[in-house]
Amino acid sequence: MADSHYSLIIIGGGLSGLAAGIRFARFGESVLILEKHSIPGGLNSYYYRKNFLLETGLHAMTNYAGPKERHAPLNRLFRQLNLSRKKFITHEQFSSRILFQNDLALDFSNDISLLKEEIAAKFPGSIDSFNTLLKVVTEYDPFTPKKWVSTRETLAGIITESLLIDMLLLPLMVYGNSEEHDMDFGQFVIMFRSLYFEGFFRPDGTIKEFLDMLVEKFRSLGGEVRYKSAVDSIVSDGKSITGVRLADQSQLSCDNLISTVGTPGTEKLLNDRQQEIYPLGQMSFVESIFILPSKNKSKSKYINDYTIIFYSLADQFDYCRPTLPIDPQWGVICFPENFHGLHRSDYFQIRITNSANYDLWKNTTKDQYKQMKEKWGRESRRVTEEIIGKFYQNVVYEDSFTPVTIEKYTGKECGAVYGSPLKIKDGKTAYNNLFIAGTDQGYLGIVGSMLSGVTMVNQNILSIR
Ligand SMILES: Cc1cc2nc3c(=O)[nH]c(=O)nc-3n(C[C@H](O)[C@H](O)[C@H](O)COP(=O)(O)OP(=O)(O)OC[C@H]3O[C@@H](n4cnc5c(N)ncnc54)[C@H](O)[C@@H]3O)c2cc1C
Repeated sequence: MADSHYSLIIIGGGLSGLAAGIRFARFGESVLILEKHSIPGGLNSYYYRKNFLLETGLHAMTNYAGPKERHAPLNRLFRQLNLSRKKFITHEQFSSRILFQNDLALDFSNDISLLKEEIAAKFPGSIDSFNTLLKVVTEYDPFTPKKWVSTRETLAGIITESLLIDMLLLPLMVYGNSEEHDMDFGQFVIMFRSLYFEGFFRPDGTIKEFLDMLVEKFRSLGGEVRYKSAVDSIVSDGKSITGVRLADQSQLSCDNLISTVGTPGTEKLLNDRQQEIYPLGQMSFVESIFILPSKNKSKSKYINDYTIIFYSLADQFDYCRPTLPIDPQWGVICFPENFHGLHRSDYFQIRITNSANYDLWKNTTKDQYKQMKEKWGRESRRVTEEIIGKFYQNVVYEDSFTPVTIEKYTGKECGAVYGSPLKIKDGKTAYNNLFIAGTDQGYLGIVGSMLSGVTMVNQNILSIR
């Protein structure tokens, strides 16, 4: 049938799938995005409750760059997608804080000099080593496939103060590391540049407006999106992919297939799972969202002056799946309205993220799950209030999601937000026309996953470099 064959099919309408779709639609013919949910966005989407539009993921976008910085990743991305960067209004973060033991703080902003000053003041013996690290991070090429290199060992060879290493690692790990305890040095470099060199910003509108813009662009270029269209299996002749079978058992054929559902998820669709080449990620999170009427009533310096707090109550930080349902000993507290010039509403949000144990959330009855949400939500709030001061009495609406919610709405098994610990840097698979884009290709976050979609189309399908 004429309408069942496409040059390119993309599994997943998250940010990597949409970016890959737009890039291909600009040059190629007939591209289809298949998304199992009724709206796009995947991990970074939205929903409505009591007249509030709640964003599922968005704290901030990383990789900030002003419109004139031509070579910056954000601006390259906009050019690749033929979207106007000038019309994309952005708001930079106030500043963010890494806070250990509730009193040792390192502030950073979108200007690396603040972090340098903070380290010079609080770790004077390590400022030269930190400058060496900046040089290493600038010169390292993280994009060429390489053997795994331990970040902790590499950093220990440069910086002697282990507390400083832990403080620098916390934001980078919690915003993009799929491994427990350590991370690949290439991944560290990507995250370091995205957070400390480039920094945080938010678009003027919500994630819904951003997603709407991408879908509109894709459709205007002739691309087709089908929602509520879960791929049930990938069909191959052993060497090449010939198409996909949908949940309703209808079949579509294609010349090329991009999967954005992760490597374990893709293996499952190929019925290749017995090989288990790609392990499931262990890191997942519980996120609580609180809506307050206005921040002006608060005297908290954090609520007024900071964008994101990365905290650890202990002086050592180990990034791993907790043995309890959540670990409130370390986490992220985000104020998504605290960006320069952002005027979104009369309401003010606080978002708290803690690492979570998927199995403990999954293996419960409905009642136990509800009780766990209440109990651990209270605990996470108690810790947060010790840091930023009391806020809960003013909350007008709250919600939370767990690893089980993440799994349900994104298909990421075990709620593994950052995918498998094993990344495929070149996106290539054992099939000559099947490519992995998004989280398991190794670029993370919104800008990262979009760049991944574009890069996989350029390198593997259009052969543009
Ligand atoms: C709580 C949380 C907070 C976050 N905060 C931030 C942040 O502040 N800033 C930031 O930059 N990043 C953040 N991220 C990370 C960011 O959201 C992701 O890195 C990015 O969205 C990943 O996009 P993706 O396209 O690779 O994957 P996904 O978003 O997972 O997209 C995959 C898509 O595939 C669909 N799908 C799955 N299986 C099938 C199937 N069988 N058939 C069809 N469709 C299928 C899913 O429904 C999904 O839409 C956050 C993530 C979470 C969960």
